[in-house]
Order: sequence, then structure tokens, then C-alpha cells
Amino acid sequence: MMALSGYPLGISVQAVDVVDNKIVDPVTKHIINNSLDRVIEEVNAITVEFESIPEDLLELVHGSGKLKPSVEAILTGADRVREKKLLEKLEIANCPFEIVTDVEELDAAVDKLGEKLIIKASRDGYDGYGQWRLQNQSDLPELKLKLSKLNLHKVPLIVEKMLNFDRELSLVAVRSSKGDIAYYPLAENLHYQGQLHVSIAPAPKVDEALSQQAQEIFNKLAESLDYVGVLAVEFFQIGEQLLVNEIAPRVHNSGHWTMQGSDTCQFENHLRAVRGLPLGSTKVTSPTAMINIIGCKDFARDMLSIPGCHLHWYGKTPRKKRKMGHFNLCADNYAELGNTMLALAEYVPIEYFPMLKDEAARLLKL
Ligand code: ADP
Ligand code: MG
Repeated sequence: MMALSGYPLGISVQAVDVVDNKIVDPVTKHIINNSLDRVIEEVNAITVEFESIPEDLLELVHGSGKLKPSVEAILTGADRVREKKLLEKLEIANCPFEIVTDVEELDAAVDKLGEKLIIKASRDGYDGYGQWRLQNQSDLPELKLKLSKLNLHKVPLIVEKMLNFDRELSLVAVRSSKGDIAYYPLAENLHYQGQLHVSIAPAPKVDEALSQQAQEIFNKLAESLDYVGVLAVEFFQIGEQLLVNEIAPRVHNSGHWTMQGSDTCQFENHLRAVRGLPLGSTKVTSPTAMINIIGCKDFARDMLSIPGCHLHWYGKTPRKKRKMGHFNLCADNYAELGNTMLALAEYVPIEYFPMLKDEAARLLKL
């Protein structure tokens, strides 16, 4: 999506397959006959679309001086221990946690945080993978047995109190190399089994104080990392307070709605930032629902008859829980958005869209 958004600007994007360091076309995935070293030499800028980059590769591109955001920002997003330390240093509210490097420390964590816990591998987790939930203390011995098979000294656990938050929000914003910042509005995110299914943007019921709070947190993080590019901050909202869940030093799934719902999409703005171009307007052009297509095979395209329905199909091999694409639904207001979602529900294999109808009903009642 980054490559597609660069095309009209005359920005050509090539990708590195981090498994074998081959250069590939980011859209067709065809191998491009060029070496990694030559490409690093030739290009104007280097960036990442996910944070779990092998360390040797990261060091190599860091050495070129062309990497944006910085290696520090990428490593912080890739490692929950670093992330928590940064949040603490900047005194940014986040979820109460303990760092655990030995399963025997879990008893003390339960004493401190309570028996309802979310336990997260500090590296290489995504979409709820690398996470375990403890609902009551009696399940702890079984969980300890499971976790004792991991090398916790190499990859410590972040043990978090399971929060009973009101909702999940995220702020996607972009910072230029000059330090200009453009914010998209907060998006409301609905997860199912640890995985993002629906984002509504702008999030309903956000007052000035709440968006100000989110933007101030973004500023602190982005400025301390001297960040260049799109950065996403995930929040839990409890009452009027935002707690940071995690940060993502890249374009983010909860920003995919910007492809149709904003003047300049997150992908274009990321490219503009890393190429040193002026940032584009983040003005909302219509309320948008981003609906992830998860784990299902291809289907007929008849839903495209729905006004405001846009499909982005990634062309990946289907796998359980794999993100295969997304819909962006645009409408003039939330009620219409609800109706558009209900219309979509008639066309898709609904078992793969467990949040769609309930979320539509909620929007209709706003
Ligand atoms: P990932 O890297 O998989 O996105 P997250 O830390 O964002 O990992 O967790 C995924 C989801 O799990 C969150 O969006 C949220 O729905 C839920 N979750 C994570 N941490 C907590 C917590 N401490 N309390 C309650 N729910 C949580
Ligand atoms: Mg997350």
C-alpha cells in the first residue's frame, strides 16, 4: 500500500524480503535482480513496514544513514521491555506491569497485579500471538509449565494487569524531519480474540480534551525518539484517561481507513516524511469504517455495488487468522455508516466478521 501511494508522486518503492534479503517488487512480490548492498547504495531513503527486523539487517541499513524512523525507534517498537522503559521515563500513563525473566516470578506478579493477567512475550508477538491470559490463580501452575519452555532470559515476559477499559483508541500521526506533526483523528478499535477487526474513524464521542491528551502523548514519544514517519499509539480509555497500550513505529492497521477517509492517506504521508517532503493534509473527508478481512478465502465482489464500499485485497495465501485484506466503508454520518455495514454483512461470509453487525447496530444508535 505504501508502494501504491508512492507511485503518483514518482516515488518508486522496492522491498526487502527479510527472510532471505532478496529485493522484491512490493506489489507483485517478483524478485528484482539487484543486491541488497547495491539497493542500499542507490536509494534515497529506507524505512520499515513492521518492527521485527533481524538485527543484522537493521544494523546494515542503520549504517547507511538513510533509515527513518531511527533504529532506536524501531527497536523500541519491537521490544515491550524497551517500550515500557520509555513510557516510564517519559512518565506516560500505561498499564500496570511487571517484567518477568523466570516463571517463578509469576506468583509475585499475581500478588502485585491481581489474578487476572495478560502475559506478553516482549518480542515477536503480533495480532494477539505470543500472549497468554490468566483468568484465575488456580490456572497458574499449568500456565507456568507452558511458559517454562520459553527462554525468558533471552525474551522476557511483560505481565500486565488485565484492564477493564471502556474502549480502545489509537492515534496515528506523522512527523516530518523538520519536526512538523500532522495528526489523524483518534480511531476507535474493536478487537476479537486479540486481533483488530474493525476501526471507526473519527472515533465517536471524542471531545477536545481527549484528543489533546492523545496528541500530547504522541508529541512526547515522537520528540523523544526524534521520530520521522508515521507512528501509531494504541490506547485504552478508562473514563477520561488514556493509558498507552503499545506503540507501533510504522503505518498501522488502525490507519488503513485513511486510504479513503482522509485527504492524504497514512502511506503517502509516511513516504512524504521519510523523503523529506512536506506533509499532506490529514483532514477527514468522510466518517469511515475499516473492516479487516481475516482468515477467509476469496469471495465474489458483489458488495462493490454498495455506495462508499472500497475493497483492498492483498492477494495473500489464506491462513487461519491471516489478514487477507480490508474494506473501507465511507458514509456521510455514523448512522449511514451503520447501514452501510449492515449492507456489507449481506455479501460477506459472516462467520469471519464477528463484530460487523453489532458494531453497525451501535453506530445506528449513536
Ligand atoms: P498486539 O501486538 O498483538 O497488538 P497488544 O498488546 O496490542 O498486542 O494486545 C492485543 C489486544 O489484546 C489489545 O488490543 C487488547 O484488546 C488486548 N489487551 C492487551 N493488553 C491488555 C490488557 N492489559 N488488558 C486488557 N486487554 C488487553
Ligand atoms: Mg496492539
